Amino acid sequence: MPRPIRAAIDVAAFRHNYLRAKAAAPGARAWAVIKANAYGHGLLRCARAVETVADGYAMLDFAEAATLREAGIRQPILMLEGAFDPADVRLAGTLGLGLTVHDAEQIRLLELEVLAQPLDVFLKLNTGMNRLGFAPERAGELAARLKSISNVASVTLMTHFARADDEVGIADQLARFDAAASGLGLPQSVANSAALLRFPQAARDWVRPGIMLYGGSPMPGLASADALGLQPAMNLESRLIAVQTLAPGEAIGYGGRFVAERPTRVGIVACGYADGYPRHAPSGTPILVAGQRTGTLGRVSMDMLACDLSALPDAGVGSQVVLWGRGLPADEVATAADTISYELFCALANRVPVTVV
Ligand code: PLP
Repeated sequence: MPRPIRAAIDVAAFRHNYLRAKAAAPGARAWAVIKANAYGHGLLRCARAVETVADGYAMLDFAEAATLREAGIRQPILMLEGAFDPADVRLAGTLGLGLTVHDAEQIRLLELEVLAQPLDVFLKLNTGMNRLGFAPERAGELAARLKSISNVASVTLMTHFARADDEVGIADQLARFDAAASGLGLPQSVANSAALLRFPQAARDWVRPGIMLYGGSPMPGLASADALGLQPAMNLESRLIAVQTLAPGEAIGYGGRFVAERPTRVGIVACGYADGYPRHAPSGTPILVAGQRTGTLGRVSMDMLACDLSALPDAGVGSQVVLWGRGLPADEVATAADTISYELFCALANRVPVTVV
């Protein structure tokens, strides 16, 4: 019998969340950010889920972009990083990909290479994230240079926020961006999920929602996914494969991290860190067993983890377990494990069978 773990991907929820992003930024077009195998949810599956409504897709990996084109997807695709390799720039021309340009070498390649068709270019300005991009003061000069290149079909100004999800917000970065963009008359793209939900003034011409499409709250400290009208796209489910009863003083799992103070019924779940569950999740991380909320116990093993059945006398071998998804937001598990839902989703292991619901 196969292990009972599976990830059920709810493509209707993904589509709902995309439309939620569109509704939050009326008038803007929305790149569905599906990089990293659609944050672990399956690239083509997610692309197809929004094919009839998506304005375009944004991603990182040229092989993923080629996969979309080979599958017959014709919408605009924006590459969020690179390309530094002449072959990638030529591939962008062949596949009709938009390029984010954040480095002088990329501009040089656009000047030098012979491309099958001119490209839409997103000129990335570094307004405070300090990862990628040009000094905002150079926007006018660089946009003019890009526009003079025959391989460039259009130029859009772009930036990315470092703190759209916390109390600092986007005001400083947006002011720097607006000062640089002023008078240039170019289309703009600045907002990720948190920015588009929190700051309507950041919607501009193109928004770039990622995590919200998967039903993760982009700002779990401020608002739950549910309160934001988002539905979980990934349900990580399994079953109890054993039940133990610990006597007082007995411990469970590696390192004996949980020691029972009283007789304790413990469920063993077929899900471990080799499935993508965070090993550093502490005892008490929320988990649903037979539809009821309880907590994990002790250390997460490679293939299994333990949970508390003290208040669940009817739960036994075969009982349904939800690690995250419907009824248990991934954000709650992520917060307990001191991480973010992005990381949980992206860490889903290849060995976990995926079903589409
Ligand atoms: N835009 C860029 C440039 C990104 O790198 C990302 C993701 O990291 C996004 C948009 C989507 O961000 P989020 O998933 O927070 O909505």
